[in-house]
Amino acid sequence: MLCRICGSEGEFQVFNATEKMYGIGDLHPYFQCNQCGCLQICSIPDDMARYYGAGYYSFKPRKSGGLYRRVVAARNRHAVIGGGLAGALLNKLQPTKLFDFLGPAKAALRIDSAVLDVGCGSGALVLLLREAGMRNALGIDPFADADLMHAGQPLVRRSTLDAMDGTFDLIMFHHSLEHMPDQLGTLRLAYQCLRPGGHCIVRVPLSSSEAWAHYGLDWVQLDAPRHFYLHSVDSMQRLVRDAGFSCEHVRFDSTAFQFWGSEQNRKGIALSGPKSNSVNPDASIFSAADIAAFDARARQLNTDKRGDQAGFVLRRA
Ligand SMILES: [Zn+2]
Repeated sequence: MLCRICGSEGEFQVFNATEKMYGIGDLHPYFQCNQCGCLQICSIPDDMARYYGAGYYSFKPRKSGGLYRRVVAARNRHAVIGGGLAGALLNKLQPTKLFDFLGPAKAALRIDSAVLDVGCGSGALVLLLREAGMRNALGIDPFADADLMHAGQPLVRRSTLDAMDGTFDLIMFHHSLEHMPDQLGTLRLAYQCLRPGGHCIVRVPLSSSEAWAHYGLDWVQLDAPRHFYLHSVDSMQRLVRDAGFSCEHVRFDSTAFQFWGSEQNRKGIALSGPKSNSVNPDASIFSAADIAAFDARARQLNTDKRGDQAGFVLRRA
């Protein structure tokens, strides 16, 4: 076996994962490189479309407008680029953590920065940025049914990164890179699409986590076969360096999901099924106290750098 991230060759341990989100249950072998730690699917299925069933994405952006949305937008604008007395006050009264992923990239953002969200799904995050005044924020997703407009401007384009023109100040991958076959090629492309000094933010699930060690094949973010790569911190650091980036910051942002999702997998409860905590919390097997305990445990794991996901803030030299 050949690791597609670090190039190491060996007889790596194989894990026979099954599809669990929809309960399809078919088998997808993965292996974990013992040099860089990257857990990766042995071979990518030909027909991935069948694993993105109806409801995987809902390409219906929320309506904007109304007083409440305007208040939230002012607060968010302060959270993203700072300034604004009203926004500052609102952010004090009701702080948001929605944009904490920006880390050191925040200092470089201006209201007119060109921001691209790659694999943006329904474009929910791009819409928040637009409403906050970031008029040059755009999302792309190859699985979008059609282009989506907002206030007379494209919000989500049905596109891939290689088809995009122009240069960007910030390119983001929020849990999309792990779905892409060519990890290095994709990040090299992102590098080329950035202006010098621009930032790239990559948020991914991590196999160098307590959740993978503890739950193994029931780990909910393994998500076979949709996740082709479950990086370790080491394999991510290697990958981004090979793409030319310097890594400015790593922020662990795992949540209670790693516990309740994996516990459900252990008990054979499909993530998209009627008893799932994400579908109907009242019918789920967890009490509010269980979820609160999972939240507390996730925060501790993030502090210990053992949470099952993190955001990497990268910079083009
Ligand atoms: Zn490797």
